[in-house]
Amino acid sequence: MKLIFEKSVPGRRCAILPACDVPKVELPAELKREAAPMLPEMSEVDVSRHYTELNQHVHGVNCGFYPLGSCTMKYNPRIDEEMASLPGFASVHPLAPKAAVEGCAEVIETAKKYLCEITGMADMTFQPAAGAHGEFTGVLLIKQYHDSRNDKARTKIIVPDSAHGTNPATAAMCGYQVVNILEITRLVHEAGGLCYYDGANLNAVMGVVRPGDMGFDCVHLNLHKTFATPHGGGGPGAGAVGCKAFLAPFLPHSALMEEPGHIQVRGFRGNFLVVVKALAYLLTLGREGVPEAAQNAVLNANYLMQRIKGTFTPAFDRICMHEFVLDLSEFKKATGVSALDVAKSLIDYGMHPPTMYFPLIVHEALMLEPTETESKETLDWAAKVFRALYELGYKDPAFMHAAPHNAQIGRPDEVKAARNPIVRYTKA
Ligand SMILES: *Cc1c(COP(=O)(O)O)cnc(C)c1O
Repeated sequence: MKLIFEKSVPGRRCAILPACDVPKVELPAELKREAAPMLPEMSEVDVSRHYTELNQHVHGVNCGFYPLGSCTMKYNPRIDEEMASLPGFASVHPLAPKAAVEGCAEVIETAKKYLCEITGMADMTFQPAAGAHGEFTGVLLIKQYHDSRNDKARTKIIVPDSAHGTNPATAAMCGYQVVNILEITRLVHEAGGLCYYDGANLNAVMGVVRPGDMGFDCVHLNLHKTFATPHGGGGPGAGAVGCKAFLAPFLPHSALMEEPGHIQVRGFRGNFLVVVKALAYLLTLGREGVPEAAQNAVLNANYLMQRIKGTFTPAFDRICMHEFVLDLSEFKKATGVSALDVAKSLIDYGMHPPTMYFPLIVHEALMLEPTETESKETLDWAAKVFRALYELGYKDPAFMHAAPHNAQIGRPDEVKAARNPIVRYTKA
């Protein structure tokens, strides 16, 4: 499709403005730009059609199945966006006097209360803007704690290979006791160390098991994954950091750094509207709904995995959490068709490709996360598509190497697009 600049016609306008009825004022020359801005000139209906056409070329969670899941873009209920757009929330100023923002403070306190209950923590900050930012904040808390006890010898953090915080919870969900993890956290505590839980994605765990009960001292949650804000698209996020009571004195200080000596990882209270959405989500689901959402996410992932099994091979043949990994290395050996080819072929079926080539410990990996909101019919359809592509790989691998066949663009050079993005139109 043509760029909006290519559709531009000199002199074409959207609006007919009334004649100017106040005296004209000339700006001083030094304030004027040297050349007129290059803006597309179009009629209103053509602008509307342009953006509608663009919209039709995008695949999102509102268009169809999107197995990147909560880690990127699970379906977030409309009501949460509505709540966040209420003027009393959306127009609030960070420097407004306390008395004028008591409702907002109550939102923060209530969200804190519920999320502390879900994680088994005593206190929480919403200041960090992302998961990685939350991890950073959490580790700073731990560091401040050790420093406050004059314990300066600790220089190492033990991180598991697979580094997925939700792993220990698998055991609990499969009916085992989490003594594993309890033994580990006990040993770390005995040695004076602290335990940090990467709760970036709590979609399989929320309301079912609590990091606090597993012996963790500090946790971050990506509200922009599990709690009604999408992670994809680069929008605002909130890496809420929860901690046990003994770490709470080290939490970042919120508004105006009124207490010096506290860490401050971001201005004011972070991305407040993300907290509003999280609270609206929690209030809508309620005490029963939160674990039910987690259980449905796990059920849907296991159902889809079982329906695909027999063609593509699960990397780990056991009950999964909210996502599962397919290992296509045997399939590639037999057909020459790679995980990338399969991902690109899914686009022709109107399915968003899942995560590719992750985790790194699985070669030719596809990681699927259907999420809690998908119906059985959609999952059955998705399984059918995967099975069809499996067969196609044996029949016509060349066709799959060339996929997608029905998309706007084929296979862009992703590295070049990321390293040298062309974000500004220049006239040819
Ligand atoms: C997404 C994720 C992160 C990082 O979160 P960002 O908001 O992207 O910084 C960290 N750990 C895990 C397990 C995640 O899934």
